[in-house]
Amino acid sequence: MSTDTSARTAGIVVVGSLNADLTIYCDRLPKPGETVHGNGFAVNPGGKSANQAVAASKLGAQVSLVGAVGDDANGSMLLESTADAGVDVTRVRRSDAATGVAVISVDASGENSIIISAGANGTLTPADVRAAADTINDAAVVCLCLEVAIDTVIAAAQAGNDAGATVVLNLSPYAEVPEILAELSDVLLVNAHEASLFLGGEADVPDADAEAEAWEPVRSQFADRGLQRVLVTLGAHGSVVLDSFARGTQDQITRIAPTRVSAVDTTGAGDAFTGAVAARLAAGESLADAASFASVAAALAATKKGTQAAYPTLAQVEQLRG
Ligand code: ATP
Repeated sequence: MSTDTSARTAGIVVVGSLNADLTIYCDRLPKPGETVHGNGFAVNPGGKSANQAVAASKLGAQVSLVGAVGDDANGSMLLESTADAGVDVTRVRRSDAATGVAVISVDASGENSIIISAGANGTLTPADVRAAADTINDAAVVCLCLEVAIDTVIAAAQAGNDAGATVVLNLSPYAEVPEILAELSDVLLVNAHEASLFLGGEADVPDADAEAEAWEPVRSQFADRGLQRVLVTLGAHGSVVLDSFARGTQDQITRIAPTRVSAVDTTGAGDAFTGAVAARLAAGESLADAASFASVAAALAATKKGTQAAYPTLAQVEQLRG
């Protein structure tokens, strides 16, 4: 049964990937050349963009997904599960290529490793973005990641920018991106590793448990690269908001404490975080408030196996926030 779509907050358009997640659970991840025994297997809906869309939708946002899947069983499974979560999938095109897949290993501590085969995601072009222009023109937030071709990501960022939407770019899986994409992005979302790669060693990313002041050189380096609003996620250590638009220097860096949970599977916690940030920005919240809300949503997502099925509803987040 579809999620109730009444009383939803303003629109988010997510442009990007849908994958079938083929997940195997094991005691520990294999080293190169090694074979280990698994103790469970599951096929689940995934793909960073589909995950982010579902996370935002379950948290009450009105979400439209622009993407491509194959004309195969995985494609049907993804269209159905995404629509069931309340996401508008009318802009997800059927492609001749096979649906994208992610082969995921999760160890007993919840740590994961992932290989992706893009498949139909690789056929998403700027023409698909143009075909979704009417939807993007109405969006409050356009949410992007790097699992589809960079030209498509840039076209979507440009369309979001032209429409006056807040463009949120999740720089994952990490790749060097053209300067124009940074210019078109209003909010950059990265984990500590991606932050370090993006800054190319210009500024050391502090330890995950460092105080806010330690992040000043990182804030300054991002600002020099034209990125005024950056969220750095730090896994079980929470996150940090770098907002160079904030007036006082104290308000420019906000450390968001982690929400303490017993993590079972952190796969897709980053996507839950991104979707939650997009949902709260679309609802008009500040970046720091959105990150604080997302910290709870992502922590809840880590308490269950899988990705989309583990994502919390608005009521569940509000209950934990008290
Ligand atoms: P992934 O790619 O595995 O989805 P990521 O590297 O993009 O993850 P993380 O920094 O690992 O992103 O996690 C995103 C957010 O999820 C964190 O900022 C935090 O708020 C929350 N989170 C992740 N792991 C935990 C945990 N073990 N306990 C509590 N919160 C967590």
